[in-house]
Amino acid sequence: MDIAFKCPNCRQELEVDAGASGQLLTCPTCAKPVTVPPPDAMNMKIGVASNSSAAAKEEKHFSVPVTASPSAPLIKKSAPPLEVAAKEGHKQVRIKTIRHTDCKEVGHDNFDKVVSEALAKIGETDLVSINTINYSYIEMGTQKMLTDFGVLIVYRG
Ligand SMILES: [Zn+2]
Repeated sequence: MDIAFKCPNCRQELEVDAGASGQLLTCPTCAKPVTVPPPDAMNMKIGVASNSSAAAKEEKHFSVPVTASPSAPLIKKSAPPLEVAAKEGHKQVRIKTIRHTDCKEVGHDNFDKVVSEALAKIGETDLVSINTINYSYIEMGTQKMLTDFGVLIVYRG
């Protein structure tokens, strides 16, 4: 439900949401502060949606965003695209632990490659931090306790 009324200064027809009643806004035509009048039978726009398109066209008014301050700009900086916002909104901080021993094959040490691939998959934007870790394990062949290293990647995903 909208309230339609005229700017008391320049008589420009304005239209705002009924919830804005009593609030101060800036007239887009004369840039003067205007107080939104309370909704009543005279200015309540009832059933506009059911009007014919021709009638709706005649009823076209300026739609004015309601602002708390009369000096606030009418044009706001556009929000990020919805798909980006949605994508960011679902992201959580996660960790990925890569142990050096898990990357070793016979005659090959793939640690750098595995970490690089993990980082490429996460992407620079979502990377929070990389931390080195040390851990102990018992080597299968020798049954000796060995110490090795790895990385703990903190990321958003
Ligand atoms: Zn005005």
